[in-house]
Amino acid sequence: MSGNRVRLQAIRDVEAYVPPSASFEESEAPGQIFGENVFNKVVMQKRLPKSVYKSVIATIDHGAKLDPLVGDAVASAMKDWALEKGATHYAHVFYPLTGLTAEKHDSFLEPVSDGSALAEFAGKTLTQGEPDASSFPNGGLRNTFEARGYTAWDPTSPAYVLENPNGNTLCIPTVFVSMTGEALDHKTPLLRSQQAMGEHAERILKLFGHTNPEHVVSFCGPEQEYFLVDRHFFLARPDLLNAGRTLFGAKPPKGQEFDDHYFGAIPERVLGFMMDTERELFKLGIPAKTRHNEVAPGQFEIAPMFEKANLAADHQQLLMTTFKTIAKKHGMECLFHEKPFAGVNGSGKHVNFSLGNSEVGSVFVPGDTPHENAQFLVFCAAVIRAVHLYAGLLRASVASATNDHRLGANEAPPAIISIFLGDQLQDVFGQIAKGAATSSKGKGTMIIGVDTLPILPTDPGDRNRTSPFAFTGNRFEFRAPGSMQSVAGPMTTINTIMADSLDYMATILEKAVADGEDFDKAVQLLLTEIITEHGAVVFNGDGYSDSWPIEAEKRGLANLKTTLDALPELITEPAMALFEKYKVFNHREMHSRYEIGLEQYTLTIGVEARITLEVGATSVLPAAVRYQTELAANVAALKAAGVEADTDALLAVSGPIADLKTGLAALKAALAEDVAHSALAEAEHAREALLPAMLAVRGAADKLEELVADDLWPLPTYQEMLFML
Ligand code: ADP
Ligand code: MG
Repeated sequence: MSGNRVRLQAIRDVEAYVPPSASFEESEAPGQIFGENVFNKVVMQKRLPKSVYKSVIATIDHGAKLDPLVGDAVASAMKDWALEKGATHYAHVFYPLTGLTAEKHDSFLEPVSDGSALAEFAGKTLTQGEPDASSFPNGGLRNTFEARGYTAWDPTSPAYVLENPNGNTLCIPTVFVSMTGEALDHKTPLLRSQQAMGEHAERILKLFGHTNPEHVVSFCGPEQEYFLVDRHFFLARPDLLNAGRTLFGAKPPKGQEFDDHYFGAIPERVLGFMMDTERELFKLGIPAKTRHNEVAPGQFEIAPMFEKANLAADHQQLLMTTFKTIAKKHGMECLFHEKPFAGVNGSGKHVNFSLGNSEVGSVFVPGDTPHENAQFLVFCAAVIRAVHLYAGLLRASVASATNDHRLGANEAPPAIISIFLGDQLQDVFGQIAKGAATSSKGKGTMIIGVDTLPILPTDPGDRNRTSPFAFTGNRFEFRAPGSMQSVAGPMTTINTIMADSLDYMATILEKAVADGEDFDKAVQLLLTEIITEHGAVVFNGDGYSDSWPIEAEKRGLANLKTTLDALPELITEPAMALFEKYKVFNHREMHSRYEIGLEQYTLTIGVEARITLEVGATSVLPAAVRYQTELAANVAALKAAGVEADTDALLAVSGPIADLKTGLAALKAALAEDVAHSALAEAEHAREALLPAMLAVRGAADKLEELVADDLWPLPTYQEMLFML
């Protein structure tokens, strides 16, 4: 497909774009539609018998075990509600380890003996489903003879009705497990980890005088970055279409260096898309809050309000699906890939997290009294210890072939996991390291004495955008997660390592209390011990600087650059012991996650390599050869006419053409190599052989893009894709 016909047509189509007609009435208030399609507490209270309602709420709010007897009553109310909303089908929604969302749709209608059909939805249909699970990755957890898995209703995430012009569907969030009860999804471990973290956080709260603390949960506010490109361009790029990122493309003359896009005015077309998505999100009860342009041209961000981690994770998946669908309606494609364009900022999904309950709020908010502050510092110290001890697991929780392009590139946190505390908190911990904190920077004098701690500021102070793990005033922000991944994985890890730290600290403090020691003194001692042993992970400097990796190495902090360096962290003895202790994963489940991580890595790069070969051989090379022929004909014609011929242009294009041919041959050979002895060997082959071979092809092709006549160039350019919206 050489020749620029497709490109030109795409550009004409972009120019001719007419926005879809407004989808909502001007009189409609956002509050009116919020949660309209959600089987939420208000609906349940209206429709469920009181005892059933109470029982379900106890599960949702207080983590009580679900009473098996409530299934039928809830199912019946849910069915009536969904039918009134125009639903014809129901679906168990689950989150397999591909990182995607899976659904199996069934009709409500069941035939009855007189030949007609009745809408049926029994309790057992609500609570359990049996999708054919054999094609989902399981990393060795299932043999084919036991290929079944089942889905089970998760009442802590409300059911909702998903609209479609051709009929609506009742969607039921579920966990997905094997017949032997092992997790095949992202939700099951998240729920387990939530429970473990809550239990030990409550022990700490009890020590600080909350006699009967409410259930502690983790909250998550994910900031989602994404790109929008016109769909005409998208469809003309086989690489974007199949791999979600460009595998070719020379740097545009104007990139993001002017910083003129960040927080700039949102293009009208994009604004129309954002309003449309927000309306859909509102209906689904997803609290979309802020929206703005991001650093790169064509890049944007949405941040919904934080919610309980499990709900936030489900909502995040639903948000991505909604964005994809609505972007198409507006003639655009929404790209969630971490690095769709080389040399341009990548996209992340910052995971803001806190722990707390309605009684204490976020445990990461410093209080007004020394006592409250001591509690705050204990929780912060728990984070410091957790991140230091389990940095490798945090790194592994964000490991993917796609995120590898982003981490450590110049706009995303490095692969070295460290914590940013801000000047003030760092100063306080600095004092604690020396024995006791007696003053708080910027807040004047403090009460002196071992039983007191400094009054801490409530404003977050400074910001550091280069840190992978930053304290931001009332929460921590984990910035390494990739834009495409589910937040469930990182949140599961955070919950589990926090459970471990809180357990460790609670055990020491409980013993001190039991031994009749002074509590404040015991707290001081423990804080000093933790900051002394784990302070190496605290880094307030510039994470992008060249000196940081050197400094980090001196501090003994790991720099696990690629997915293959990070994944083995999952199967170290201490990691497996940790997850087993807190009943989040058993050994087999950990091994399966490791295997699936390798498998996904290999699959991703394999697809990219094959597309590189195809586009290189069938689009780029023919265009370049045609141009070369044109130049050669020109030289020959000039010579024949007795004019001195300039061969510079011909030579200039011939060099990269030769390189491209060599590169394509090498890539083809690398793809043909037989390495199928183990998942690790295959993944290593992808990293060591395929990635460099793809880069060589791209290098030659990108050079050609700058030489070949524009009317022959087949692929939409970076300039066109990034700046035409
Ligand atoms: P910034 O760009 O300054 O990091 P944003 O407003 O874009 O901030 O996003 C902040 C995210 O953090 C939002 O999703 C917000 O709901 C979330 N957040 C705020 N407070 C908390 C908290 N206590 N726990 C978890 N997430 C929080
Ligand atoms: Mg942020």
